[in-house]
Amino acid sequence: MNTTKSTETKKEDVELFWKKVLGILETELNPTAYNTWVKSIIPENLTSNSLDLAVPMEYSIKQLEKYDSLIQDAIDRVGKARFKTRFVVKKISEESSEIKEKDLGPLFESKKQLKADSRMVAKAGLNSRFTFENFIMGNSNQLAYAIAQAVSEKPGESYNPFFLYSGVGLGKTHLMQAIGNKILQNSPKTNVVYTTGESFMNELIEAIQSGKGRGKYTSNEFRNKFRKADVLLIDDIQFIIGRESTQLEFFHTFNALYMAGKQIVLTSDRPPKDFTNLEKRITSRFGSGIIADIQYPDTDLRTAILRTKRDINRDEVSNEVIDYIAQYVSTNIRELEGAYLQILTTARASGKSPSMELVESVLGKNIKAQRRKSLSLGQILKEVSRYYSIKTVDIKGKRRTKNIVIPRQVAMYLMRELTEEPLMSIGQFLGGRDHTTVMHGIDKVENEMVEMTKIRQDVENVRRML
Ligand code: ADP
Ligand code: MG
Repeated sequence: MNTTKSTETKKEDVELFWKKVLGILETELNPTAYNTWVKSIIPENLTSNSLDLAVPMEYSIKQLEKYDSLIQDAIDRVGKARFKTRFVVKKISEESSEIKEKDLGPLFESKKQLKADSRMVAKAGLNSRFTFENFIMGNSNQLAYAIAQAVSEKPGESYNPFFLYSGVGLGKTHLMQAIGNKILQNSPKTNVVYTTGESFMNELIEAIQSGKGRGKYTSNEFRNKFRKADVLLIDDIQFIIGRESTQLEFFHTFNALYMAGKQIVLTSDRPPKDFTNLEKRITSRFGSGIIADIQYPDTDLRTAILRTKRDINRDEVSNEVIDYIAQYVSTNIRELEGAYLQILTTARASGKSPSMELVESVLGKNIKAQRRKSLSLGQILKEVSRYYSIKTVDIKGKRRTKNIVIPRQVAMYLMRELTEEPLMSIGQFLGGRDHTTVMHGIDKVENEMVEMTKIRQDVENVRRML
C-alpha cells in the first residue's frame, strides 16, 4: 500500500477531474471570462472533499470571485459531492515544467513564448507583437479566433482558404499575423508570406516596370515570392478590386497555391458577396473554404482587453477608470486602445494616475465632437486646408506628395467621424475617389493615432477648431 497521504489524489486524476470541470465551465461562462481567468487556474491538492485552485496573481482571484458559485457548482457536479475550495496565489516560475504555458491564458505568456525566430518573422513580413496569446477572445470574435487557431495548427488542411472580414480596428490583422507567427513557432522552416492587398499591387507594378527595363525587381522574383509560399496571408484584399492586372495575377497565384494544398488566408472589410466588381471566378474561390467575420466588441470584451493591457504593462490605472473607458469607447478596439493611451499619456504629463475627472474631460471632448454630426464635408475640408496651409483643390486633386496625402487622409478620417456621410460620398466629394481609397486613408490615420504621433495631435487640433 501507498504510505503517502491516502486522501490525496494522483496527478493524472486531478488533471482528468479538472478537465471535466473546465468542460462544464466553458459552456456556462462567457468566453472572455473563461479564456482570460478560468483557463489559467491550476488545480492542486485534490482530496475527496477539498480542492485548491492556484492562480497566478491576487488580481485573478478578484476576477474569479464573480464566477465563484458557477465554479463551485461545476466542481461539485463532477465530484458528485460538496467540495471545499479555496483560491491560492501561486507565482509561476518560467522553469516550472508542470505547467504548460499555453494553458495559462493571455496574461501569462513568458518572454520565451513570444519569440519565434525573429529573423524568420521579419522575413515573412510579420510583426511579433500579434500573437494568439495576447488576443482576447469574446463573443464577437470567438469563431474567427477558433478557426485561426485551427489553421495555424494544421495549415492547408482544415480550412482553406480562410476568409476573414470585419470593420476597421476589430482585430483582423492581429489574428492573421498570429496565424503566421504561430506557424513559424511550430515549424520555423515554413515559408510564410504576409502582405497587404496594396503591397501586392505595388510589388506587381514594380515587377512589370522592371520588365520594361525600369527597375530591379523582376516578374520572376515576384512569382517566386508568392507562388513558392507555403502559407500566404493577404491582408485587406479589397484593395485590389477593380485593378485588372492585379486581380488577374492574384487569381493565378491563388490557384497555384490552392492546387498545391498551400494555406491561404485573406482579410477584407466586407464579405466576399459584396465584391461586386470582382469576377465571379475569383469570389467563388473565397467561398470554397471557410468565411468568418469579427463583430463589434461588447462591453465585457472591451473591458477585458483594457484590463489585460494594463496588467501586462503594469499601468497604474484603476478598474473604475478602465470600465468607464470601455463603456464609452465602443467604436472599435483600435480606438479603444487609442483612448486608453491618450488618457494614460495625459495623466503621466501631470505625474498622477488617471482620475475620473481626467477621463471625463478627455473622453468628453470626443463625445461632444461625436454629437455634433451636423458639420458639412465642405466645412471640414476648409478647416483641414487652413490648418495645414494648403489649397482645398490640392486635397481634392491627384498629387500624392506627403504634404498633401496626410492632410487628405486626415480630412477623410474627420469626415467619417464627424458626419453621417457614407464613404462613397466622401470619396466623391474628395475629387471622385473610390470608397476603398477613403477606407484605406481612414485606416492609415487610425493606425498612426494609436501611437502618440503628430497626426493624432493634428486631428485633435482640427477637431477642436471645428
Ligand atoms: P483590423 O485589422 O481589423 O483593422 P487590427 O488587427 O489592426 O484591426 O486591430 C486593431 C488593434 O486592436 C490592434 O492593436 C490589435 O492588437 C487590437 N486588438 C484587436 N482585437 C483584439 C483582441 N481581441 N484582443 C486584444 N487586442 C485586440
Ligand atoms: Mg488591418
